[in-house]
Amino acid sequence: MARRGRRCATPEKREWPVLGAPRAFVGYLVLIDLAAIVFVVVALVTIGSSLSRWGTVALLVVVALGFEEVARRAARIQLRLSSDMKRDMTSVWAVAGAASLRPGFAVVLLVPVLIYIWFRQQRPAGEILHRKIFNAATVFIGCLGAGEIVRATNATWTKLPWMLSGIVSVGVAIVAYTLINRALVTAALVILGARGRVLLGSADDNLIELATLCLGGMVSLAVLYQPWLAILVLPPMITLQRGALMRELETAATIDSKTGLLNAIAWEHLARRELARSSRAGRPLCVLILDLDHFKKVNDRYGHMVGDAVLRRVGRCLEVGVREFDAVGRFGGEEFVIVLPEATEFEALLVAERLRARVNEMRPSAADEPESEQVEPLSVSIGVASSPTDGTELTELLVAADGALYEAKARGRNCVMLA
Ligand code: GH3
Ligand code: MG
Ligand code: MG
Repeated sequence: MARRGRRCATPEKREWPVLGAPRAFVGYLVLIDLAAIVFVVVALVTIGSSLSRWGTVALLVVVALGFEEVARRAARIQLRLSSDMKRDMTSVWAVAGAASLRPGFAVVLLVPVLIYIWFRQQRPAGEILHRKIFNAATVFIGCLGAGEIVRATNATWTKLPWMLSGIVSVGVAIVAYTLINRALVTAALVILGARGRVLLGSADDNLIELATLCLGGMVSLAVLYQPWLAILVLPPMITLQRGALMRELETAATIDSKTGLLNAIAWEHLARRELARSSRAGRPLCVLILDLDHFKKVNDRYGHMVGDAVLRRVGRCLEVGVREFDAVGRFGGEEFVIVLPEATEFEALLVAERLRARVNEMRPSAADEPESEQVEPLSVSIGVASSPTDGTELTELLVAADGALYEAKARGRNCVMLA
């Protein structure tokens, strides 16, 4: 089991500010929003008049709004906890629209759902309007684009026996919708400078999205063969949303949102467990407390935003500088704690010295700024305590390590002291 501080990768906050955003980003948002408007208008103009289809769409709208109303409180909490923009279940209706409805009817299904979510959940939770509009545009383009792909390829498998043709249509709709929607959102994030794993999302988030898409597939099959069965997706949708909320709450309770490290409570819990295990096995364990030197000066000179970015970078530096089963936490302010199970005093001193040297190589501002030549490096003071020498209780070890840290500060900072 990996027990790094960053147990769940918290996505970096994506504010999506429009004012002051790169021109390319604003241009991209406008382009996608306009494209969605064109697609929606064309779909509505060619809607046709099939009474039974109107009945089916009315049923789906009632089921969708019923779900959104039941899920309203949980959805608002989720929105406040996470800045991730894909936090609703509109994919269910988008996939259903793509696989089983004509484009105009898909729009008639999605519009009330998106408006309802905005007024009842997203706006009260402080969601940003232009972000929501872009999100809605990606849903419309994904749904209508996937619908076109389904219709264009339908003739290939329409002769398949039993329900197989419907199942294949649904599979194509799910894949096409996901690819289009993901591509549009990923392009926006890339323009904003996001790279690497942030673009892929966590495994858990992808699993929840897959489950949502599958529910969309079940609604599509219901629409194709027996529309009333669509009501049956309500209980799994509510359960899925509560499961996702539980995950958000767990992350909020254990992870420090600024650095992505364990927060003080979660770290202490984990360190106590490690200490008990080491004591039982008669093995050593060490605790490090780290405090950035003169951090107030960094804030005073560069501002709190840069100060926060420095804290994040230092947190990452500590994480990659220790073993997989060591745990790094943010103790508060600019103080960090690390528990090193199975490490002797000597080994802990080596680790502490290595971390001190790595932090000392960092600069508060970006290295490519010309003025950074003159910028003073960061430094950190570290206190080390070991079990059983300095105690067998976590509190004793923390007091001992804190005493050593105080000593390190007194000796001029940027050094490591053993309790
Ligand atoms: P030293 O530890 O070397 O004695 O000096 P210091 O300047 O680091 O002093 P101290 O530990 O007393 O002050 C910590 C400063 O860290 C005060 C505060 O401005 C800053 N700080 C604490 N938490 C945060 C935070 O979350 N973000 C930012 N940007 N700054 C923080
Ligand atoms: Mg401090
Ligand atoms: Mg300090």
